[in-house]
Amino acid sequence: MFVSKSAGVNDKNHLTFAGLDVVELAKEYQTPLYLMDENLIRENCRLYRTSIEKYYDGNGLVLYASKAFSSLAIYRIVMEEGLGVDVVSGGELFTAISAGFPAEKIYFHGNNKTEQELVYALESGVGRIVVDNLTELSMLNSLAKTMGKTADILFRIKPGIDAHTHDFIMTGQIDSKFGVALETGEAFDIIKTASTLENVHVVGLHCHIGSQIFDLAPFEEAAKVMLTFIAKIKNELGITITELNLGGGFGIQYVESDTPIAYDKYMESVSGVVKETCKALGLALPKILLEPGRSIVASAGLTAYTVGNVKNIPDVRTYVSVDGGMADNPRYILYQAEYDFEIANKIGDEKSETVTVAGRCCESGDLLGENVHLQKAEAGDILAVFSTGAYQYSMASHYNRLPNPAVLMIKDGKERVVIKRESYEDLIKNDLY
Ligand SMILES: *Cc1c(COP(=O)(O)O)cnc(C)c1O
Repeated sequence: MFVSKSAGVNDKNHLTFAGLDVVELAKEYQTPLYLMDENLIRENCRLYRTSIEKYYDGNGLVLYASKAFSSLAIYRIVMEEGLGVDVVSGGELFTAISAGFPAEKIYFHGNNKTEQELVYALESGVGRIVVDNLTELSMLNSLAKTMGKTADILFRIKPGIDAHTHDFIMTGQIDSKFGVALETGEAFDIIKTASTLENVHVVGLHCHIGSQIFDLAPFEEAAKVMLTFIAKIKNELGITITELNLGGGFGIQYVESDTPIAYDKYMESVSGVVKETCKALGLALPKILLEPGRSIVASAGLTAYTVGNVKNIPDVRTYVSVDGGMADNPRYILYQAEYDFEIANKIGDEKSETVTVAGRCCESGDLLGENVHLQKAEAGDILAVFSTGAYQYSMASHYNRLPNPAVLMIKDGKERVVIKRESYEDLIKNDLY
């Protein structure tokens, strides 16, 4: 009935999430409020981790792509589940390290890392730096030299795979700001250059072909393309690549029509392709890395809002306005992302209305959904939006000086605040006259 496994209904006709009454949590902690189901997050981590053990003899590592949701609590959880993490900024790196994450299991990504960030990454002893381009390569090499270190690196490669997804989140093609292209020889040249540098050590290759992908084929294709390139590097440059990072992008269910694949299927199919291709090319099996972000946390999240005014414009539409919007969820304004909505205090009622759910920000485009089928909404209702665990809190802004909402983590039927709601004082704490 619901797109989220964590959802249910109790005897008060209220929506429950991870076993708790969403209406009561909204009353107690105020809205907007993010809820996260820790047990589901852990289950997702385990499904990926065990799939590498089961299908690839454990010769790999799952990295949680922490840009999806970065906080002390989530790093602690994924660390306990035996995953590594990928970070894309000094701020994410700082948060991971502050949570006690082992540096050697941190992969540092980014298409335009600053000198300061590279120094920080080297000082922290991150496991790998995923180098994006030639400018970064030479900067990293000279910084490492000054610091008397050698950086273990991967290269971000554009394998040229069309992952059949939204243009904004398609990253594997030539026209992308991420990485170096295979087709043009750019990728080959940068590896050749790296092999002449003393303070970087080329360990692996990385690709990330997009996001919210529901197919196995693009991942299989990417693995083949990357392995063929690894064979070329071995044959022509005499360099052995031991790590192949296939990125993330595994789809999740936002609305009923989304058809995600069980997460362990990716590793099952990819490991088959990797083994076959390596055999055909005479390559030793590389260590495989996967970087799921969305699929670890999205379905484990829910946002609760309070409905304010309901504005019916005859023959046009009905706006149901809530006490949040693009400041806590910019995904509709960015990608017209679709969601499933419920009125948490009327969960058993029929969805008799078709409405537009609007936020409270001063932008006409500040919507959370259009043509939304919903129970009849009135002021004071609690509106629940499913699958909001990824790319929401991490993308939140202070537009209109809205304080960021609190995040509650629910484990075994008990909630705890893992990120406090901001106060008005928090909003001005860095302001000066
Ligand atoms: C965003 C990103 C991911 C995670 O993508 P999801 O769609 O959230 O799984 C993994 N790797 C890299 C390099 C990314 O940029």
